[in-house]
Amino acid sequence: MIGLLGGTFDPIHFGHLRAALDCLQGLALDQVRFIPLRIAVHRPQPLASTAQRLAMLEAALADAPEFVLDRRELHRDGPSYTLHTLRSLRDEFGPERPLCLLIGADAYAGFLQWYRPLEILELAHLVVMRRPGHDPVASPALRQLYLERVCEEPRCLAARAGGRILFQTLTQLDISSTRIRELIAQGRRPRYLLPDAVLDYIERERLYVPTDPARSPQP
Ligand code: ATP
Ligand code: MG
Repeated sequence: MIGLLGGTFDPIHFGHLRAALDCLQGLALDQVRFIPLRIAVHRPQPLASTAQRLAMLEAALADAPEFVLDRRELHRDGPSYTLHTLRSLRDEFGPERPLCLLIGADAYAGFLQWYRPLEILELAHLVVMRRPGHDPVASPALRQLYLERVCEEPRCLAARAGGRILFQTLTQLDISSTRIRELIAQGRRPRYLLPDAVLDYIERERLYVPTDPARSPQP
């Protein structure tokens, strides 16, 4: 089984990495593919450039062979729709291999507003990762979808290529990229929330530091 963790990764942090490891071990996945999106569909565009987000992912994933950096969304024009990404993964891995889309509870709350969600479920399982402060079944429609598709055991995912929903308990780390960007903007170092190599890169590139209007060139 292959786990797929899509995201903005602006920047990648220990919440992502620990969640991926908990899923890898808890579901006996062969690998987790980290898939940075190029153009976000449901949110503002990232502050870091694509090259900077990639550099941070490379630094974070360097010593974990089961974590694979998957650049396929970056090579495609237009918005990054998960359905298209899954079609491309199916072409590469074939129709039988179970694919598990790992999404945080916050992302699952909006799942029915994604582009063609039921077609997504034809191509992959959904693994909903519990996340502090987010109710995974925030609406009756999501609860209904879950009840129709529920899988209690990783074995049930392994038995088919896609179509099921499993709730995965994780080490609960209340870390988000938003919080990290806010800390930096306030002049505070977000140490211990993300790998040192990523923090070093952020500081070298002066990422997420608001430009000081007093020092920027006048028009
Ligand atoms: P932002 O605050 O900019 O939205 P983020 O921390 O939510 O960033 P994303 O790149 O948006 O990170 O997240 C990619 C995926 O990882 C999403 O499915 C998200 O729910 C999940 N995720 C991110 N942080 C955590 C966490 N601490 N615990 C569990 N899942 C997480
Ligand atoms: Mg997010």
